[in-house]
Amino acid sequence: MSELILFWHRRDLRISDHTGLAAARKQSAKVVGVFCLDPQILEADDVAPARVTYMIGCLQELQQQYAAAGSQLLILRGNPVETIPALAVALKAQAVFWSWDVEPYSQTRDRTIIDILKAQGITFLQQNWDQLLHTPQEIFTGGKSPYTVYTPFWKNWSSKPKATPVETLQNLTGLTEAEQEIAQKAGVIPLPTAKDLGFIWDGELIIAPGEAAAQSQLEEFTARTITEYQEQRNFPGVDGTSRLSAALKFGVIGIRSLWEATLAAQADSRSEETTASIRTWQQELAWREFYQHAIYHFPQLADGAYRDTFKHFPWQNNPTHFQAWCEGKTGYPIVDAAMRQLNESGWMHNRCRMIVASFLTKDLIINPQWGEKYFMQKLIDGDLSANNGGWQWSASSGMDPKPLRIFNPASQAQKFDPEGEYIRKWVWELRSVDTEYLVSGKIPPLELQGTDYPAPIVDHKVQQALFKRMYQQQKTLTSSEG
Ligand SMILES: Cc1cc2nc3c(=O)[nH]c(=O)nc-3n(C[C@H](O)[C@H](O)[C@H](O)COP(=O)(O)OP(=O)(O)OC[C@H]3O[C@@H](n4cnc5c(N)ncnc54)[C@H](O)[C@@H]3O)c2cc1C
Repeated sequence: MSELILFWHRRDLRISDHTGLAAARKQSAKVVGVFCLDPQILEADDVAPARVTYMIGCLQELQQQYAAAGSQLLILRGNPVETIPALAVALKAQAVFWSWDVEPYSQTRDRTIIDILKAQGITFLQQNWDQLLHTPQEIFTGGKSPYTVYTPFWKNWSSKPKATPVETLQNLTGLTEAEQEIAQKAGVIPLPTAKDLGFIWDGELIIAPGEAAAQSQLEEFTARTITEYQEQRNFPGVDGTSRLSAALKFGVIGIRSLWEATLAAQADSRSEETTASIRTWQQELAWREFYQHAIYHFPQLADGAYRDTFKHFPWQNNPTHFQAWCEGKTGYPIVDAAMRQLNESGWMHNRCRMIVASFLTKDLIINPQWGEKYFMQKLIDGDLSANNGGWQWSASSGMDPKPLRIFNPASQAQKFDPEGEYIRKWVWELRSVDTEYLVSGKIPPLELQGTDYPAPIVDHKVQQALFKRMYQQQKTLTSSEG
């Protein structure tokens, strides 16, 4: 058996602060990276061009990092259940390492691959949770069950000591020329562009691809914005959040480094407000882990509502309303601004994600799974656990104990976009409309003359009352059935 360890990258596209790579490097200097373009993921109907473009950019940088460290990152295309073991066998690899993932598809795929590798006498390392500060096996209630409520999860999660960053991968030995030829015969290809894969994204990305860009974004955020995060994070017109979600989704930045940066910012903090602000950002990182643990322990979340009342809810699912929501043409300026931000930039501010999700489910009475899928088709940071968690929270169908949460678009806009800055930026045809009208959504028809901006497609008050009635009926029905 050779010294070769193949490291299979999935959502960990970097070489620094990488626990799995560090473990591989300890065992051998001959660590070669591999990434597989999986048609089951890339040819699904929920893939966002912005996300693939970002991912390919990250892979380009990762190839350069491997080359600088003396090795290679190999690219495969096909079903990983076949391609990964075939490459490992062809190269007579001693072991294949990878980081464990929470998603149901990855869990099944990885178990199958483990069986195939075992049968070939190749070892594997899969007990490594590189993307989380605490694994799903670490955080349980006193009764040893997984948490279904965030606040006690946070209490427990935040009380536990966190790991520190691990060393950056360096001084590697890569494949010899002869081995590279073998790898090519086993299916290794040059890295395609996103366009080669059928994804066209000509817009700017909210974050430039790669570890270097993510690092500098983190540095800038922790040096400046984090101290006002608590106050600023709710205003979509302000650049008050980290915009690191895509980097976190693809593991372009190490979670331990990120945590360490928050501790350094806390150490520099000179006021209670600043410390509280940093704490609030840490809480967002815990939300991310909460939802990852949730999908790991309750994989059924991926297929629909958690709460019984919503399992067979009679959603109205009006396709014309759905289309208007997708296009940002509902006649509710804050909703339309948010949807246009999503369509045009591949990202949406968190406050607006909550507003549009509430609007789709509680005002348009459309199945949250429609919105969840649309988000996945557009978001650069689209991620099963966070997206599903966000949608279930907004639809009140998830684990959140609050029974009914309905956002009023007008009060949300009045509170969080009081000058209508955000609305004007994205709904350009309303840019000269008075702020008062913009944020209340009550725009006199005269103001709309010469534009094709629609009148509101539904009445919030009427729909709110209707939804509440439907909810009560469904609740009664469900409890009598139970
Ligand atoms: C309906 C809905 C859908 C969402 N879909 C996604 C998604 O597909 N992918 C995604 O990464 N986030 C999703 N979120 C969570 C959140 O909106 C984004 O993580 C955040 O807006 C990203 O911007 P940021 O990096 O500037 O966040 P920051 O405010 O700087 O937060 C830092 C990091 O914490 C994590 N985080 C923050 N809020 C949440 C949250 N509520 N749930 C889970 N993680 C969180 C993210 O990794 C984020 O990058 C969704 C929220 C809602 C309400």
